Amino acid sequence: MHESAAAKKLLAATLPLMRTPPVNLGVICDCLKVEVYAMPCEAFGAAFSHCGGRRCLLVNSRLPQGRFRFSIAHELGHFLLRHRPLAYIGEKRSPAIEKEADAFASELLLPEDFLRADAARFTVPDLARRYKVSRQALEIRMKNLKF
Ligand SMILES: [Zn+2]
Repeated sequence: MHESAAAKKLLAATLPLMRTPPVNLGVICDCLKVEVYAMPCEAFGAAFSHCGGRRCLLVNSRLPQGRFRFSIAHELGHFLLRHRPLAYIGEKRSPAIEKEADAFASELLLPEDFLRADAARFTVPDLARRYKVSRQALEIRMKNLKF
């Protein structure tokens, strides 16, 4: 499935549960039956694994909030876009695959409908706080949406 279609489908199922930003990744992970484990780790930002039939997402708890959330959304992208799981932590995927997961994360954390309504009312730093994303992630999304 294309990353945009996958993000839209997930948002259609979960956005009615959240009337305002930020997108609630806890609800989304619950819906997908993904268990999230945050732990301090220097070796990686986040990683998805299928452990004994369970869907586990490990994320580095030392990341700043925006990157923490983006890393979770990025890994959900790998999972939902059916990218091959990594054989080991630190294995490199192709840049094209990483780009797809980034695009998915961007669309998931910054839903176009929410952002369109908010863009005129808030400054960029306020929007970044409102959506709990990094300023960089917000600016990339706004550029892609041609705001
Ligand atoms: Zn990745």
